[in-house]
Amino acid sequence: MIRILALSNVPLSADTLHQKVGTEKVDRVTVYRSLDAFELAGVVQRHPLEKGRSLYALAATDHHHHHLVCRKCGKIERLSSCDTTAIEAAAKKRGFTQLTHVLEIYGLCPTCTHG
Ligand SMILES: [Zn+2]
Ligand SMILES: [Zn+2]
Repeated sequence: MIRILALSNVPLSADTLHQKVGTEKVDRVTVYRSLDAFELAGVVQRHPLEKGRSLYALAATDHHHHHLVCRKCGKIERLSSCDTTAIEAAAKKRGFTQLTHVLEIYGLCPTCTHG
């Protein structure tokens, strides 16, 4: 599974990944469980989409980042900055460990705003 993510230069959905691994070889639940484990270990980064689906990418080849998504035309821009220090500090204060986060920002791009 990691190999498939490593060979892909775009983030993949769990279903696409499942198809590439081979639906007869592993079941869907195994794919999701593995992805959860990889996410927790920081091996993959999950990019949630607004409709509830997620895309997965290898964290090593694709540095941790977030996206700006236009709600109207679907344009996706990459945001390289990520500062969740304050939120993570608050989570740690409450005794949470092994922290990960998912964050995507939705809005209207300049073209859709002025168009
Ligand atoms: Zn747009
Ligand atoms: Zn982040």
